[in-house]
Amino acid sequence: MSRFWSPVVQTLTPYTPGEQPQMQRLVKLNTNESPYGPSPKALAAICSQASDDLRLYPDPESTALKQAIATLHGLNPNQVFVGNGSDEVLAHVFAGLLKHDKPVCFPDITYSFYPVYCKLFDIAYSNIPLGKDFEIHLEDYKRPNGGIIFPNPNAPTGRSITRSEIEKLLASNRDSVLVIDEAYVDYGTQSCIPLLKGAACPENLLVVHTLSKSRALAGLRVGFAVGHATLIEGLERVKNSFNSYPLGRLAQAGAIAAIEDQAHLEETSAKVIHTRTKLVDQLKLLGFETLPSTANFIFTRHPKHAGGKLYQLLRERGIIVRHFKLPRIEEFLRITIGTDEQCNELVLALKEIIS
Ligand SMILES: *Cc1c(COP(=O)(O)O)cnc(C)c1O
Repeated sequence: MSRFWSPVVQTLTPYTPGEQPQMQRLVKLNTNESPYGPSPKALAAICSQASDDLRLYPDPESTALKQAIATLHGLNPNQVFVGNGSDEVLAHVFAGLLKHDKPVCFPDITYSFYPVYCKLFDIAYSNIPLGKDFEIHLEDYKRPNGGIIFPNPNAPTGRSITRSEIEKLLASNRDSVLVIDEAYVDYGTQSCIPLLKGAACPENLLVVHTLSKSRALAGLRVGFAVGHATLIEGLERVKNSFNSYPLGRLAQAGAIAAIEDQAHLEETSAKVIHTRTKLVDQLKLLGFETLPSTANFIFTRHPKHAGGKLYQLLRERGIIVRHFKLPRIEEFLRITIGTDEQCNELVLALKEIIS
């Protein structure tokens, strides 16, 4: 603490990301990174930018990247906003689109950065409880609100809802922005981006993506939002009041090549889905109960073994998963889907621990 802090700083409880331990030979299944590398074309594009040109500022508008994203999704480039990771995109969304008199609504169990942004920007929020099987009940969001945001699939549960359910909510929610955070959409969830195509694009739907998960570029820091051009214009105003150059030359070049390599994304996502199915089956044989997941992680508990204890014992064996000491989910482990080999090591360790 320091008397030089602005008053709000004292009141903040910052987001705690999963740890990035420096120890070697860890089985790291705690932050939902891809176990496979990024597209080789992205790596080549990044290397090609490491030149004397780095003395020059990058394109502040990331024009070519917006065009690549627009082309991939059949949108107009003025429907695309990009940022330094989707966390930064989300920060601008909270500041620029979700701060109103009425509270913004999100699930009680969800991405824990949302309440952190609310605190930072002084935004009122309401937590809407998940159902008893940790499902999102969209009916509960049909109330006056300053905005609605949730991940689909939700984090850390991995449960998803269909596009048609979200369309129904959108039809009844005309007076605030609905934000769908599709960080994990590529592992078997229906995307809402098709709703944004052409003249039928709703004025108040925004979809947020990241290149950190399925495109295996967490280290590059690129995320984007797509929606109605007027929403994007609002985000650009916020961005240009904060940082004109959020994406460097390496990030823009790497992101374009990654976006254009859809084959790499499909191949690696399919492998993750395959491993996920196998892992859930193996855990079931050990007595674990796992929520249905369409993400690159699972949320699982054992009726006879406490989550915190399992987390510790795995850690002692060099296997890092995520455990949240929070009401309702304290018994769960969130486990990132790794390679088949990593998941086999995990299953062997759990077998040993619970026997
Ligand atoms: C990982 C994650 C993000 C942030 O991703 P970055 O682009 O790496 O900042 C956003 N939302 C959810 C739900 C996530 O899990």
